[in-house]
Amino acid sequence: MIAANNPNLKTWLSVPEGSDFSIQNIPFGVACTKGDTPRVVSRIGDYVIDLKVLFDFGYFADLHVALEDFDTDCLNNMMRRGKSGVRAIRNRISELFTEEHELKSNSNHLEQILIPVSEAIMMMPVRVGDYTDFYSSEQHAYNVGCMFRDPNNALLPNWKYIPVGYHGRASSIVVSGTNFHRPKGQQRPVDAEPPVFGPSKQLDFELEMAFVTFEGKTLGDSISTKEADDYIFGMCLFNDWSARDLQKWEYVPLGPFLAKNFASHVSPWIVTLDALEPFRVKGPVQDPKVFEYLEYEGDKHIDINLEVSIKPESSEEKLVSKSNYRYMYWNMNQQLAHHTINGCNIKAGDMMASGTISGPSETEYGSMLEISWKGTKPVQMPDGSERKFIMDHDTVIMRGYSEKNGVRVGFGEVSAKVLPAK
Ligand code: CA
Repeated sequence: MIAANNPNLKTWLSVPEGSDFSIQNIPFGVACTKGDTPRVVSRIGDYVIDLKVLFDFGYFADLHVALEDFDTDCLNNMMRRGKSGVRAIRNRISELFTEEHELKSNSNHLEQILIPVSEAIMMMPVRVGDYTDFYSSEQHAYNVGCMFRDPNNALLPNWKYIPVGYHGRASSIVVSGTNFHRPKGQQRPVDAEPPVFGPSKQLDFELEMAFVTFEGKTLGDSISTKEADDYIFGMCLFNDWSARDLQKWEYVPLGPFLAKNFASHVSPWIVTLDALEPFRVKGPVQDPKVFEYLEYEGDKHIDINLEVSIKPESSEEKLVSKSNYRYMYWNMNQQLAHHTINGCNIKAGDMMASGTISGPSETEYGSMLEISWKGTKPVQMPDGSERKFIMDHDTVIMRGYSEKNGVRVGFGEVSAKVLPAK
């Protein structure tokens, strides 16, 4: 077992009941505090842990790390240490904050190492090189197929053979809390008439999870489903905003473009794949049988509870969906194996999103397109207003966590407010 995953570990820091950031989590992020430069951090309960200061004090002295791994504004340097290097750092942080360690009584050190979460400004954790978006939830693909094609042929013929995906844009991936303007673009609201131009009227969220990769292999080599775990650093929540009206007009024949690339939001903490290992579950039976390079062994899906709320400007938030990452048809190992089967090389800091995660019941759909069924079933907000899609000044909040045998490992939240079009 990975030492930091031991469910019996107890920290001497106080962890609020129900916190996503138990001693078994130890996620990684980047924060800056008042007047200080950005640095790599971790978190336990409501304390942000400054890893640069831990390094300066020599707590990582026997690990294969360097100052530039932590004294930096992204996790990419640290990620070059690979799976075993990052595992050693996470295990060390865990050791330092469990009962036996002397750090507990070194108040001079602690004062500099711990930052109350309210004083830390969380930043974009990863410098994303390339972004790939998959389309791997069967229920979501089925729902979209029903709405736009035919319930009897909802899935396209390739869907159960290929983990379908497209190359997205990395520059507009931003951290939770970064508000953004409603996109403008071409739309064709009436099929028989010419297109119009203006602010999107069908702005939607997509409930997704993303994974971040370690440095891959050289161009021309592939990563197998068996090797994939060693190339995945960790995961975060991912809101892949979509302008449905722009999408409908532009997507033929080359797929998503301006309907998708104006903003995607990530939660600030990358939860390592190591920390998620205890929450592995079996995936669905895949029929028809997949090609050999997509076959996998063991449980490679993960049980992550997900939810989405909409908060209108002047009222409380309203829960509009509860889903779970375990509903994926294709798992990360298959996605990565497929992505590299042609020799495509992945780099440290690449981000790969799951695609909208919808569960089998209507309360588990991962987009407003499905929740309001193309606008035919509006959702009531606490202030009496209705939502078919997302309105100006709405904040969309996604949360996620895994929980088993009393251990909770969570992601916190990804939240962003939509401002009127510029
Ligand atoms: Ca997407």
